[in-house]
Amino acid sequence: MKTRRNFLKDCGIIAGGAGFSYLSLGSSEPGRVFRKPGKSSGMSLRFKPYELKLKHVFTIASSSRSTTPVMLTEIEFENITGYGEASMPPYLGESHETVGTFLKKVDLSQFATPFLMEDILSYVDQLAPGNYAAKASVDIALHDLVGKLMKQPWHRIWGLNPDHTPNTSFTIGIDKPDVVKEKVREAAPYRILKVKLGQGNDKEMITTVRSVTDTPLCVDVNQGWTDKHMALDMIHWLKDQGVVFVEQPMAKAAVADLTWLTQNSPLPVIADEAIQTKGDFKKIQGVYSGVNIKLMKCGGLRSAFTMINMARAMDMKVMIGCMTETSCAVTAAAQLSPLVDWADLDGNLLIGNDIFDGLTIVDGKIILPETPGIGIRKNDLFKASF
Ligand code: MG
Repeated sequence: MKTRRNFLKDCGIIAGGAGFSYLSLGSSEPGRVFRKPGKSSGMSLRFKPYELKLKHVFTIASSSRSTTPVMLTEIEFENITGYGEASMPPYLGESHETVGTFLKKVDLSQFATPFLMEDILSYVDQLAPGNYAAKASVDIALHDLVGKLMKQPWHRIWGLNPDHTPNTSFTIGIDKPDVVKEKVREAAPYRILKVKLGQGNDKEMITTVRSVTDTPLCVDVNQGWTDKHMALDMIHWLKDQGVVFVEQPMAKAAVADLTWLTQNSPLPVIADEAIQTKGDFKKIQGVYSGVNIKLMKCGGLRSAFTMINMARAMDMKVMIGCMTETSCAVTAAAQLSPLVDWADLDGNLLIGNDIFDGLTIVDGKIILPETPGIGIRKNDLFKASF
C-alpha cells in the first residue's frame, strides 16, 4: 500500500525538512510560490494531502471504511489565506492522485483579483469534466479568501439570518446492537439522528436505536432496497417509529419505482446518490420530494447555492449534507444552512483528527461562527501536523 510520503514523492510534492510544504501551483521548485511573468495577480494556490481517521468503522449499505483521504487547499492573496478541502469517499471516484492532477492545471495568476469569483470558478469548472471534490476545494478556499478580504462571514454576505440554522442530524452507521446503542448514547446532544439502513437488518437497527432514545430519526438507505412494495411497507412502519424522512431508498436507476414510491409514501423521499449537480435536476423532477446537496458532489458553495434555489423553484425539500470532512468543508456548507429544511453536517464529528475549528453545535443546533470567510481557524493539531 502506498504511504502518504511515497505518494508525495511520486507527485514531487515533498519538500525538505521534517514536515512538508504545500505544492505551489506551476512551481518547478516545490514549496516556492510560482507566478507567471507579466501577470498582475498575486493569487497562488497550494495543496497537500491528508488522511482523516474515523472514530468508528463506518458501514453503509454498500461499504465499510475507517479512513477518508482529503486534499487541503490554500489560496493566498496579499498575505491573506483562504482554506479549502476536497474529501474523497471511495464511491465518488476521486483520490489524492486525481485531485492533485486537477489542481495542477489551475492557474489563478491570470485573474487580477479574487473578487472575480464568477470568472474564476467558471474557468475552474471548465478545466475538466467531473472532479467535483477537487473543484469544491478551490471554490471553498476562494470563498474563504474573499470573505476574509471583505471581513465578513459568508452567511452575512449572502444576507442569511444565522438564527435560522437548523439542527444537524448525527449519523448512526450500521453495526451490531451493542455498538449502535453506544453510538446513540454518544449522540445524546443531537435533536435528530440519521440511521443508516439497507443491509437487511433495518427493523433491528431502528428497534435498537429506539431502545435508547425517543429522538426524531431520519433514515438513509443508500439505494439498499430493491422492491417498491416492501419499501412502502417499511416506510409506513418507519413513520410509526418517529422517522421524518427517507433518503435514497432504492437504486437511482429505478426511476419508475421511485416515482411510485414518492407518490405513495407518507414521508418525504430525498434524493442523494441520484443528484450530484444542477444538471441532474431534470432527471429527478417528480421522482423525489427533495434533494441532499453536498459541496463535494456539486463542486462547492457557488454550485450548492444555485441548486438550493433550483430545488425551491421546483417546490422540493432541501437538505445540506457532507462527507467525512474536517471542519473546513463542513463549516463552509453550514454557511448555507439557514436556507435548508434539514442539515446533516456531522462529518467533522465522525473523525478523530480534525485540524480546524469552525461551526459549533449547541443543543443540536448549528451555531455559525462570526469569523470572516467560511468561519474556520487552524487548530493545534494543524499546527502540530504540518
Ligand atoms: Mg445519503
